[in-house]
Amino acid sequence: MNKRDYYEVLGVDKNASDKDIKSAFRRLAKQYHPDVNKDPGAEDKFKEIQEAYAVLSDENRRKQYDQFGHAAFQGGPSASGGFSGFDFSDFDFSDIFSDLFGGSSFGFNFGGGGFTGRSSGKVRGRDKVISMNLTFEEAVFGCSKDIQLDIMDTCDDCDGLGGHGEEKCDECNGRGTIEQQQRSILGTYITRSTCPKCGGTGKTYKTTCSTCHGKGKIRKNKEITVKVPAGVDTGNQLRLASKGEAGSNGGPNGDLYIEFNVKSHPIYEREDDNIYLTLPLNIVDATLGCKKEVPTLYGNINLVIPAGSQSGDKHRLRGKGVENVSTKRKGDMYIILDVNIPEKLSRDQKKLFEQLKKTELSTPKIKKYNEFLDKNR
Ligand SMILES: [Zn+2]
Ligand SMILES: [Zn+2]
Repeated sequence: MNKRDYYEVLGVDKNASDKDIKSAFRRLAKQYHPDVNKDPGAEDKFKEIQEAYAVLSDENRRKQYDQFGHAAFQGGPSASGGFSGFDFSDFDFSDIFSDLFGGSSFGFNFGGGGFTGRSSGKVRGRDKVISMNLTFEEAVFGCSKDIQLDIMDTCDDCDGLGGHGEEKCDECNGRGTIEQQQRSILGTYITRSTCPKCGGTGKTYKTTCSTCHGKGKIRKNKEITVKVPAGVDTGNQLRLASKGEAGSNGGPNGDLYIEFNVKSHPIYEREDDNIYLTLPLNIVDATLGCKKEVPTLYGNINLVIPAGSQSGDKHRLRGKGVENVSTKRKGDMYIILDVNIPEKLSRDQKKLFEQLKKTELSTPKIKKYNEFLDKNR
């Protein structure tokens, strides 16, 4: 897979606004449209541009792409619930092409792999975003979770058709579209508009479905199981292809996006794939050195604390962080020492400290300070 970066394809930078993306697409589409550009590579180039635009012009898809790259749309490791292939054939380019080429709705045909705009009357269902709370561990290790979805789904009584007793539409003779030839600066095009009677399906029905009142879809409450991949974090979105709202007139379903919200952990802090743990130590352990039991994500270990350790000293445990959701590489864990001064002492402890005081306990910093003071009195 040598897919080019979508931003590179459109020649825009990562922070490009929707307007920048749209105008870059318009410019490139005009240049590489197969009806205009007869170079052998133009068609592939045009498809590449279309795909990049379909992703970057959609807020959710762009977010997904920024986070996971092409992996977001190419069928990743969590095949059952995860990132399945991105199909842009249902993307509606008709708005942009209509002001580009001056028609209402085009059906371009090149090598059978084109797109059909709105001419079939099929309308893709809406995407749906829901949020999901996860515990720290569920996010780090992945999990399977059942969720209740309140969603516009296909009507089972009429299989989404909206009625019973199929008949051919007499307005468009079953074609779903009414065709007209139109001239523009780039040549002659066939413009097709959707048949107003059948809404583009080419079919009408003897009786309207009473369950969905002809809409073909109804609000349903259903439970679905979501496989959450290991390594997700707050704000990450998982795309479940075709699990969004039902389409109209036989159009595909929208997508479902699950946005995660990860609860904090009692002792770990997470920053991307790294885990931070503050380890409290008493002054004796910090001064003399010690071994401390430390919980990691992958079991407890004994950490050697050298003599003379200071607050803020960091110990790095390589590969003991969170597994990255896309690269699968593990981050690191950092243990940060926090030397605690006792606020209360027993009588015996106090005696020992007083004995210690007689030894004139010092450190290089204390010495330096005292030398300065001696010279400047
Ligand atoms: Zn019709
Ligand atoms: Zn129905």
